[in-house]
Amino acid sequence: MERTLSIIKPDGVQRNLIGEVVKRFEKAGIRIAAMKMLRLTKQQAMGFYKVHQERPFFESLTDFMSSGPVVVMVLEGGDVIQKNRDLMGATNYKEAAEGTIRHDFATDIEKNVVHGSDSPATAATEIAYFFSELEICR
Ligand code: UDP
Ligand code: MG
Repeated sequence: MERTLSIIKPDGVQRNLIGEVVKRFEKAGIRIAAMKMLRLTKQQAMGFYKVHQERPFFESLTDFMSSGPVVVMVLEGGDVIQKNRDLMGATNYKEAAEGTIRHDFATDIEKNVVHGSDSPATAATEIAYFFSELEICR
């Protein structure tokens, strides 16, 4: 069993896509092991995305990520890191495959509805950023 962190970004929450995203996870046989809604401060968004701090889009991305509530989830299942990335689609929605969340709903390279961890190491760090072990249902 593997775990990954998923975030429904502020654009997804604002556009009433929580149910749609969760439905796609459940239909894919992914188990939701933890879930909560919160609003990141600018500092918290900067901490979450610190791997990107030198990138030109960092300032705008962290403004966006702190602009409204997000839904954070721990997803669990076999090969769930890659499975989630496949459901999400490419970072740039214009390159995302048909039927992926980003292809179907993203409006911008930045406002692309969902986040998903990209490796076991990042998944562990990102899950711990939002959840204590006690908050994750086994
Ligand atoms: N992003 C952006 N411009 C870019 C690349 C990325 O605004 O040129 C944003 C986008 O919201 C993306 C996030 O920064 O989801 C993190 O980038 P990453 O390369 O990690 O993409 P992801 O792992 O989310 O597909
Ligand atoms: Mg990434």
